[in-house]
Amino acid sequence: MPVPLLDLKAQHQTIRDEMVKAVMDVVDSQLFILGEPVKQLESEVAGLSNTKFAIGCANGTDAILLAMRALDIGRGDEVVTTPFTFFATAGTIHNVGATPVFVDIEPKTFNIDPQAIAGGITKKTKAVIPVDLFGAMAPIEEVKKVAGSLPVIEDAAQSIGARRKIDGKWVMAGEAATIGTFSFFPSKNLGGYGDGGMIVTQDPAIAERLMRLRVHGGAKQYFHDEVGYNSRLDALQAAVLKAKLPHLAAWSAKRREHARFYDDAFRGLDGVVTPHVDPKNESIYNQYTIRAERRDQLQAFLKEKGIGSSIYYPLPLHLQPCFAYLGYRKGQCPVAEQAAMEVLSLPVFPELTQAQLDEVASAVRAFYGR
Ligand SMILES: *Cc1c(COP(=O)(O)O)cnc(C)c1O
Repeated sequence: MPVPLLDLKAQHQTIRDEMVKAVMDVVDSQLFILGEPVKQLESEVAGLSNTKFAIGCANGTDAILLAMRALDIGRGDEVVTTPFTFFATAGTIHNVGATPVFVDIEPKTFNIDPQAIAGGITKKTKAVIPVDLFGAMAPIEEVKKVAGSLPVIEDAAQSIGARRKIDGKWVMAGEAATIGTFSFFPSKNLGGYGDGGMIVTQDPAIAERLMRLRVHGGAKQYFHDEVGYNSRLDALQAAVLKAKLPHLAAWSAKRREHARFYDDAFRGLDGVVTPHVDPKNESIYNQYTIRAERRDQLQAFLKEKGIGSSIYYPLPLHLQPCFAYLGYRKGQCPVAEQAAMEVLSLPVFPELTQAQLDEVASAVRAFYGR
C-alpha cells in the first residue's frame, strides 16, 4: 500500500459536500473578488490569531512582500532572516529592493537562533523575519527582545493556529509580531483550492495601509495614494477556507497524534533524531521532519516501498545561486547547512490510517536494521 507524503483526496472525501456548497454559493452570487466571504474569513482568522486585524491577499509570498511595503522597507535596507526556510521568505526581501541578511538557526528546532540575529543587525536593518518552521513557532519573545525597536514580521505560512506559552500565557502564531503572515497554499494545514494568503496585525495604521496596498495602493477606487499591487484574495478561495477552518483544530490535533506515534516508534533508533518541539510550543506539524543518517539512501529506500518523503530544504538560502551576489560562503551558517544534509519529512497528514503509520514506521526501522 503506497503512503503519499500528503493525500489531499483523503481529506476531500470527508468534507466534499460542505465544500461543494461553499463553492456553489459563490458561483451563484457571481461575486468573485474580495467581498463578503473574504471579510468573514478575515474576521475568523483574526479571531483565531488573537489579532485586531486580518487582511486577505493573493498568496503567502505576497503577504510577506506587502508586510515589508507597509513598513516602508525598500532599497538600501537590510532584513535579517533565516536561511533554512522556503524561498519566499528571502525572495520577497530581494523583491522589495532590500538585502536579505542570513543568520543561523538553532540545531534542535531548525528555527532562527535569536543570538545569531544580534550578529546580523546593522544600522541598515529595518526588520527581522523569523519563520515558524514546520508548524512550531520561533521563540518570538526572544526574537523581539533582540530586535528591540525593529519591527518583526513573523512568517507563519506553515503555522496557522500554532501557539507558544510565554510567561504562562498562550500566544498564537502571528499574535505577538508587528505583522504575521499566513499562506493557504494547498499543502499547508489550512489549504485552499489554489493560492491564497493573509496578513495579521494589531496595528490599525498598518492594517489600513495593507488594505490599500493589496488593491493598487488606493483607498478609493481610481485614486492612488501610492503604487501597490493586485494581491486580492478571491471569494472562492475565502469560501473554501472558511468552510475548512472549523476543521483545522482537529486536523492539527491528528497531526500531533501521528507525530507522537512516530516519536515512540523511533525512540532509541540509532540513525534517527526525532523532531524536537520546544516544550513552550504546541506544534501543528505542517511537517514531521527527522534528522536521518544516510538520509538520501533512506529516502530512496522509502520510495522503493511506495512511501513519500521530502527534503525541506536541500540548499539553504544563503547558498542559492540567485543570492551569490550577496557573497555568502559555505560555512557561514553551519547549523543550517548541516540540517540541509540530514533532514527528511515523513507523511503526517491527518487522514493517515494506522496501517499507513505502521508501514512508514516499520520501513524506517527496517532501514536502520531494527
Ligand atoms: C508556503 C510558504 C510561503 C509562501 O506561501 P505561498 O502561498 O506559496 O506564496 C512562505 N514562507 C514559508 C515558510 C512557506 O512555507
